[in-house]
Amino acid sequence: MTKVILSLDIGGTKINGALVDAKTLRIVYRAKKISSKPHQKQLLPAIAATVDALRAQAQQHRWNLIGCGAVVAGQVWWPSGVVRWSPNINMRKRVFPLRRWLANRCHAPTMVDNDVHGFLLGECALGSTRTYPLVVAITLGTGIGGAIALDGQLIRGVENKAGEFGHTTIFPPNGLPKRCADGLPGHFEQYGSGQAIRQWYRLLSKQTPLLSSSGLPPPLARVGVPRGSSNDKRRGSRIKSAMTNGGFHDPRSVSLTTFEIEQRWYDHDPIAIAAVANVRSAIAQGLANIMIGLNPDAIILGGGLIRMKPLIHGLNAEVGTFLPFPVKTKILLSKLGDDAQLIGAATLV
Ligand SMILES: [Zn+2]
Repeated sequence: MTKVILSLDIGGTKINGALVDAKTLRIVYRAKKISSKPHQKQLLPAIAATVDALRAQAQQHRWNLIGCGAVVAGQVWWPSGVVRWSPNINMRKRVFPLRRWLANRCHAPTMVDNDVHGFLLGECALGSTRTYPLVVAITLGTGIGGAIALDGQLIRGVENKAGEFGHTTIFPPNGLPKRCADGLPGHFEQYGSGQAIRQWYRLLSKQTPLLSSSGLPPPLARVGVPRGSSNDKRRGSRIKSAMTNGGFHDPRSVSLTTFEIEQRWYDHDPIAIAAVANVRSAIAQGLANIMIGLNPDAIILGGGLIRMKPLIHGLNAEVGTFLPFPVKTKILLSKLGDDAQLIGAATLV
């Protein structure tokens, strides 16, 4: 009888579930992706539905479900699997015993960890870093996550927080106006994330004379905000205040998505080019610090931003400008994508 592990990745935007072959760690069945942004009260039922669907599949195929591994965006206590700060499961002041809750639902031995840990374990098991002894994972998304592994095992530190490089300070506290999610200034995450690209774009726009030489298309058509749209009031009001700015139409003080800024980069928008360059430089500094501090065999990059070519192109060379001596650490891009977390979650069991 094939032994399978029920794997869950409870991320910032979606719940991903799969059945993973316990021996080969290959995914043998995928659950339907569910948005993890429903109202807080609907989140646990959504996770429960995914678990039930996967259990039913295992039964149908007569697979032997031997355990459940889940990874979640946020802080997780190890090995208790209590989730402390998470963009979806928990609320700032409370903690949630996710491991116990899931074990009751799965009727199988269950382990729960942080999603970046899952990503790195997956990469070390089946991904590009499986042949390297000392590996650091950095996920570049809305924020920056990090993890360290030696010979395929996580280095957890005293509180399961080792590798949180996103919250190391790399800049003096007088640059971007908005602080890191934890309220502190100058963090790597504040300067090297998707959020930073959007903030730089907004900030540089304000400092640049209106209607500069770039010949941008009109903002509303480009940004695609329907006028009077009830579910986009906040953005609508931002646009309104931008438009009343000195009586000029200033497309640039509108908040663009990272994708829209990337498009503008290809359109030779100087502000997009500068915003991306600033963030690439911050990422390079962060990576150089890791290379000097840990001298790992490889740093594996994951997260949505690694698909942003203008940002990733030239990163290696830029890292070199922050290194005082040559370093052999390889910078690799994840090829497993979302599967890394699911495979990593299965290795927890
Ligand atoms: Zn921080």
